[in-house]
Amino acid sequence: MTLPTKILIANRGEIAVRIMRACREMNIQTVAIYSEADKDARHVKMADEALRVGPAPASESYLSIECVIDTARKSGAQAIHPGYGFLSENPTFAQAVQDAGIIFIGPSAQAIRAMGDKAEARARMQARGVPIVPGFQDANDDAALVRAADKIGYPVLVKAAAGGGGKAMHVVESPDDLLDALAAAHREAQNAFGDARLFLEKYIRNARHIEFQILADTHGRTLHLFERECSIQRRHQKIIEETPSPLLDAALRAKMGAAAVEAARAVGYVNAGTIEFIVDPDTATLRPGSGQGFYFLEMNTRLQVEHPITEMVTGLDLVQWQIRIAAGESLPFDQEMLTQRGHAIECRVYAEDASNQFLPSIGTLLRVIEPQAPGIRVDSGVETGDEITVHYDPMIAKVIAYAETRDAAIRKMQAALHDYVLLGVTTNTEFLQDVLRHPEFSDGKATTRFIEQHFPTWKPENQNVASVLVAAALAESSGVSPATTIAIANDADPYNPWARGDAFRLGVGS
Ligand code: ADP
Ligand code: ADP
Ligand code: MG
Repeated sequence: MTLPTKILIANRGEIAVRIMRACREMNIQTVAIYSEADKDARHVKMADEALRVGPAPASESYLSIECVIDTARKSGAQAIHPGYGFLSENPTFAQAVQDAGIIFIGPSAQAIRAMGDKAEARARMQARGVPIVPGFQDANDDAALVRAADKIGYPVLVKAAAGGGGKAMHVVESPDDLLDALAAAHREAQNAFGDARLFLEKYIRNARHIEFQILADTHGRTLHLFERECSIQRRHQKIIEETPSPLLDAALRAKMGAAAVEAARAVGYVNAGTIEFIVDPDTATLRPGSGQGFYFLEMNTRLQVEHPITEMVTGLDLVQWQIRIAAGESLPFDQEMLTQRGHAIECRVYAEDASNQFLPSIGTLLRVIEPQAPGIRVDSGVETGDEITVHYDPMIAKVIAYAETRDAAIRKMQAALHDYVLLGVTTNTEFLQDVLRHPEFSDGKATTRFIEQHFPTWKPENQNVASVLVAAALAESSGVSPATTIAIANDADPYNPWARGDAFRLGVGS
């Protein structure tokens, strides 16, 4: 099987960097695309070649099918990797890439379309015997939804058929609120997805989000690479993920894994994808025999943000396998040969202010120093001097911790987040540390409502931000080693590794 020699990465930020890393290890040339706002970005510097794709707004650059394909043609790339977000789950794009004679590193347009319509996907799963959340997806009008809600029983969740990114979702507690929620959701769905269609699900109050990674080749082999638990969410968006899930035992894992494989097969799925399930912990574990307890939510027909934790525990490189599968290689292992070893956790690092409604924080990154330790991986799209702008998602990096046990992985993550230096914009690293510290999280009991229940508002404990900024400014103007000045400014913090007088950093202090 011949691999492509040149791949265009139709994305930006940490995922573009991640994909280029895989290409480099495989000896494949990389082409970056960039908008005007990204001309000096890390992914542009890292690529072998970089081509401008349009102005700053995503709709005219990273989201423009025409511009991306034109650029790919010009570059002579034989394949396009879409990453996640942007055009990754757009069937029209996948088809256009193929029509241009370029390999799309992902599933077929037909599989993307089948799973992209959640109402249709539910019906398909039901026909295939994959358990779905009790609900209703055959609505022509709101009156049908209102009748269905009475049958399902409240609380219900209003969802968009074309939905994604946690948008246009409304929990409705009583019939009195349903019509208003439907009106709002129609509006939001039309705005966000250009498709106002809605469906209903029973709202599972104390839910756990547990998903299964799928890899399927073009030769009929479909495998799962175990689960990722993503229950730590804010507004239906994941912020911390881990594997293995503290909730699953071997029996439930095997059952859910088999259902995930069945779901992927139902659409003839090829390449990497994820089957998301919602799990009702009461019926899944506490009352055996009282129900399956797990239900299909949706399939994400792409590489997922949290894929690194699966890579850590399985030892497989998912991006490299995506490229190999797209080139027609067959998977050289079967389900029984795959194992989970150790425990991995990922935290999403956002340029946002967790103490002020999580508003995005924009500005220049004055200093970035990534944590380094055995078992720590940082997937980042930024470096010192980069601009965080309003144009794109504020997720700038991911920290992944890998250790023998869950407790050790949590401790490792705490230390790494503490050591992560990101000066110039506000980030959520302190917020994440407080979340990891919460006993409900340590006990492995957190549900998808954990953040709203325990962190409805949040304030950082020690406010030494000002002193750190002063240090950075000092470093800039004096040419003094930044680590040294930060240590001086921060010596009041007994846990600050930069302030320690021992040989923590060779050549500094002692
Ligand atoms: P994952 O399941 O991989 O964590 P997310 O739902 O967090 O996926 O989405 C991955 C990225 O794509 C995020 O940057 C998110 O904001 C973006 N995204 C996903 N779906 C949509 C959508 N329908 N509209 C806009 N952005 C989306
Ligand atoms: P998206 O496409 O936006 O990712 P999902 O269907 O995957 O939409 O749902 C996102 C999140 O919303 C889930 O991870 C879960 O926390 C919550 N959710 C979705 N459906 C339900 C449900 N029926 N009951 C309870 N929570 C749900
Ligand atoms: Mg989802």
